[in-house]
Amino acid sequence: MTDCLFCKIVSGEVPAKIVRESAGTVSFRDINPQAPTHVLVIPREHHPTVGELADSDAGLLAELMQEARQVAEDDGVAGNGYRIVFNTGPQAGQTVFHVHAHVLGGRGLNWPPG
Ligand code: C5P
Repeated sequence: MTDCLFCKIVSGEVPAKIVRESAGTVSFRDINPQAPTHVLVIPREHHPTVGELADSDAGLLAELMQEARQVAEDDGVAGNGYRIVFNTGPQAGQTVFHVHAHVLGGRGLNWPPG
């Protein structure tokens, strides 16, 4: 998609601190981190939401989840626990409509979230 910020990160047009890449995904540090580890895992292909991705390519969603787990392990936060969040829709706080898993860890995380 030409006007999608995260498609531009995938293509290299917009810079990002990339931490991992796989055949179908790119993982990069959030520009406004909410925890010591805050990485976004995105599919290279444009899909707007996690629900749409699940319907159209469940294998790619599984790859994205495996990458999220690997990000947590690489950052050393998997042992103490981490959170994977998909904000979906405006009321949930989704601002970029290219699906992304937030991987958050490295501090205590409150429940319920705000
Ligand atoms: O779930 P939501 O759509 O709100 O998340 C978008 C995320 O993308 C935000 O956490 C924001 O800080 C991040 N972002 C980024 N790099 C950009 C623009 C936004 O990491 N260039």
